[in-house]
Formats: sequence, C-alpha cells, structure tokens
Amino acid sequence: MTINEKSYAYGAAKSSIREIAAYGAARKAAIGAENVYDFSLGNPSIPAPEAVRDSIARSLELPPTQLHGYTPASGLPSAREAVAKSLNRRFGTAYGPNDLYLTCGAAASISISFHAVCNAGDEVIVIAPYFPEYRVWIETAGATCVEVLADQTTFQIDTEAVAAAINERTKAIIINSPNNPVGSVYTAQNLQDLADVLRAREAELGTKIYLVSDEPYREIVYGADVPWVPSFYDRTIVTYSYSKSLSLPGERIGWVLVPNTNPDHDELVLAVAGAGRKLGFVCAPALFQRVLMDCVDEPSDVEAYARNRKALTEGLSKLGYEYIEPDGAFYLWVKALEPDAEAFFEKCKALDLLPVPSDSFGCPGWIRIGYCVSYETIVNSMPAWAKLKAQYA
Ligand code: PLP
Repeated sequence: MTINEKSYAYGAAKSSIREIAAYGAARKAAIGAENVYDFSLGNPSIPAPEAVRDSIARSLELPPTQLHGYTPASGLPSAREAVAKSLNRRFGTAYGPNDLYLTCGAAASISISFHAVCNAGDEVIVIAPYFPEYRVWIETAGATCVEVLADQTTFQIDTEAVAAAINERTKAIIINSPNNPVGSVYTAQNLQDLADVLRAREAELGTKIYLVSDEPYREIVYGADVPWVPSFYDRTIVTYSYSKSLSLPGERIGWVLVPNTNPDHDELVLAVAGAGRKLGFVCAPALFQRVLMDCVDEPSDVEAYARNRKALTEGLSKLGYEYIEPDGAFYLWVKALEPDAEAFFEKCKALDLLPVPSDSFGCPGWIRIGYCVSYETIVNSMPAWAKLKAQYA
C-alpha cells in the first residue's frame, strides 16, 4: 500500500460507538424513531443556552472581515482573558490569557497535549475504562497507550496499579473526571494519592511525568465536588471543551490550560502552540471564540440530566440491574447480565436497546448507557429492559 497504512487502519477500524449510532439511525428510519432506544452517543439532548444565540446575533453585526478573519493561533486575547478570569474566580488561581490556548474542542486539546509532551517510544497511561479515542491520539503522537484498570468496586484511580505501571518511558497519564464512561468523580483523596505516586516515581526514576486532566464534564455533576487537579500536582495540563457544558459539540470549541504553576510552563506553552501548528489547526472557530467572551459562565442545564439519571437508575434498579451510581457526566455503567459484554449487547440490540459494550472502553463485562437522550426515551425503554432481564431469569 502506498498511502499511509496507520491512517487507513484508523479509518477502516471505525469507532464502535459511531457504528452503533449509525445502526441506530438506520433502524429509526426503518421502524420509527420512537421504537429505537439509542443510548450510544454522548450528544447532548439539552439545547445550548439562549445566551449563546444572543451572542452569535451580536457577533453577526460585526464587519465580515473582522467576524470571519483568522485569529491569533492561541485565540483572541479577550476570549482567553474571559476564560482565565472565570477559572480564577472559581478556583482561586491567578491564570492569565497566555496560559490558555483555544482549540477545536477537547479532541484537539488532548491531541495537542500529547503532541506537546511525547516523543517516539514514550508511554502514556490511561485509566480503564477510558474514552476510546485516547488511544488514537496517544499513538498518533508516537507514544504507546498503557491501560491501568480503575478500582473495580469504586471506579476511582487504583493508584498502586498506576505506580506499578510507571517506568522510565512513562511521559504522561491522562485522567477524566467526571468520567466517561463510568460517571465517577475522583475524590480529593484519590487525586492526592495519585499526585504522591507520580512525584515519588518521578523522584525514583529521575524523569518527568505530565498529568493531562481531561474535563469536558466538569460542570455536569449531581452534588459532587470536582477538585481542581492542578492544585494537587504541578506538572498538570488541563484540557476542556464546551461540547457538553454548553451543548455545542458540533461547533468545536475548547482550550488547553498550561497552569502558570507548572514548572515547565514556558516551554510547554510553546510546545502546545507548536503542536497546534504541526496538526494544522490554525485557530479555533472565530465565531465561537466570541461566544466564550459572553457565555463562559453560563450554567449547564444539569437539572434535565438529573431527571434522566433518576428515571434510569430507579427503573433499572427496580428490575434488578447492577450499576455504578454516577456522580457526574451523563453515562450509566451497568453490569452486563453475562460475562461477555459483546454477546450481551447483541441481546440488547435484538430489543432495539442500543448501549455501548464495555470492551470498547478497555474493560470487560459492562455496558455504557448514555442518558443525554430525551426523558421519554428512558421511560419508554423500560419494558425492553424488563424483557431483557427476563431472558436471564
Ligand atoms: N474526552 C471525553 C472524556 C469525552 O467524552 C469526549 C467526547 O465525548 C471528548 C473528550 C471529546 O470532546 P469534544 O467534542 O470536545 O472533542
């Protein structure tokens, strides 16, 4: 083959989440949308806040050359200033616009972060179950993805297992809290233990380990406190997007933060800019950079997800399903009724229930139910979940 074999392989392999979603769309066209319970994608069903539309309308008054022109690669200074001020208000920090690099969403933020820190032959640790695209972004940055299972009871980070997985090639670890796919939120104690382990292993090995904290669900929590990760570990890089918090996944807007407390700050800021350049991002969408100036503190509509979460957990619990109580994000991690999650998924599919089997997330024996769907979808799916359970009676 003369074209790039790795790129071909990623294209040919496809994401299993997207395959299930495509199957769901075809099935809806065939039997009617109301008869298919598609829980596959993390595509918010809650509309973006009114303030986003108002902001866009105001921007449309600008001269087109100003509105549609290139921005600086790191983003409009006033948009970065708005984000920095918001973070400082919320976390008692003292960040400035130069600590931020605006991106085309979390996918770009994470990919840029790995390209900024990794060299060929490095290893990056992921906590399984994990968002499957992490592997693609780690590998394309020249590194190897090393899976470390979360504690299988609490789904907090198993810090002893992380310590054991670290070696002289370990360049970074990526964590995600509130978590996709489990819905767990890492406690302050768990993050403190992780930071202690990273510092101890750095000292033993004489290396540097970067902690990438991927936080697109930070605001979607049900009463849990989401600790600010850079306050535990200096060598942290934070990646964020507005895909979930403001329901803007198609608009591609987010950021990378290199905290000014990071001891490698100045080099990292340049490496992040270099990675953005290398990957051809040029700048984040200009219109949505302006939306950030107006909407950075708009609250997320957590109430709607909380209602869905309640209906789903109460319904499944009555039927006798086991699951991990989610503290955040909008996914429910449910124990498959047989050891092989793929086989269990086939039985779900036969009833037009479309969750995602856990193997896609690097962990056997579970399914992920995305509850960022309409409330009706959840309520109307209950008879099918009951039928499924009855098959295992
Ligand atoms: N990280 C996690 C944990 C996610 O769940 C997602 C999207 O679902 C992303 C990153 C990518 O988000 P974005 O749409 O902002 O690229």
